[in-house]
Amino acid sequence: MEKFTVTQLERLNELNGDPNTAEMEFADSVERDQAFRKLEKELVRRSRGAIRDLLSDRHMTKSAEVGQMLEQWLMDQGYTKVMTPTIITKEMLAKMTIDEFHHLSEQVFWLDKKRCLRPMLAPNLYVVMRELKRITGEPVKIYEIGSCFRKESQGAQHMNEFTMLNCVELAAVKDGEQVDELKRLAREAMKALGVPEDSYELVVEESTVYGSTVDIEINGIEVASGSYGPHFLDSQWGVFDTWVGIGFGIERLTMALSESRTIKRYGRSITFIDGQPLNI
Ligand code: ATP
Ligand code: MG
Repeated sequence: MEKFTVTQLERLNELNGDPNTAEMEFADSVERDQAFRKLEKELVRRSRGAIRDLLSDRHMTKSAEVGQMLEQWLMDQGYTKVMTPTIITKEMLAKMTIDEFHHLSEQVFWLDKKRCLRPMLAPNLYVVMRELKRITGEPVKIYEIGSCFRKESQGAQHMNEFTMLNCVELAAVKDGEQVDELKRLAREAMKALGVPEDSYELVVEESTVYGSTVDIEINGIEVASGSYGPHFLDSQWGVFDTWVGIGFGIERLTMALSESRTIKRYGRSITFIDGQPLNI
């Protein structure tokens, strides 16, 4: 009996083929190659159809849609969108206690001795929310969506460049209510994306950077991390009110919602678009 070759399976996988095809058996290699060609042709046809549909009707990739749905939900909740630089200073990073001793520090892309590509949005958001609170004297609700960069050992769920949507509210809840608020926000976000309640889990975890965190998991995959203050980092940033924030990984969310196994299909890419390979 013959099974598909490694190269054939790679191609079928790239074309979003059913993982069960790996188990298919054939009388001989001729029959196998025939089956491969037939399957490949069908999958290519499907991918082309999906791309045509994107270009003619949908005009927006699933990742872009996920980002937009969350943005719309946040704006409906009174959040304001901010845009801050992708390049940040060493000092900003150090204030997150991401110094040479922290594990994230090995994942930072340095541009030169003083500047790097942001691995997270939190440093910039700390500054902006503090200043907006100082100016208005009111609670502040802001969010940013944009690229973050981390040197990763490139598993199926990590990319070096990914899109984070981070929302944060400052001085909006009483001390002691942060975890409840985090859970409320997480549930609302899932509702805004149409994720049924039994399809995700809220998991409380300890993190070296954020203290206690509430993660959102879909099929065991972390798609977002929420954290709150008062927090040991706050005084460095001149922040003294309660805050609650969640960072959503847009491609992780899209991957999980598409029941896909590979994140790179949904990230910034010149080889994939909207989950479909371009080499078809
Ligand atoms: P993980 O443990 O999965 O590496 P993390 O806890 O380090 O993620 P956070 O700092 O909590 O990540 O970032 C918030 C969200 O950003 C994560 O929940 C995830 O959805 C997404 N994310 C983090 N790192 C990556 C990456 N390298 N590629 C794609 N998405 C990522
Ligand atoms: Mg996390």
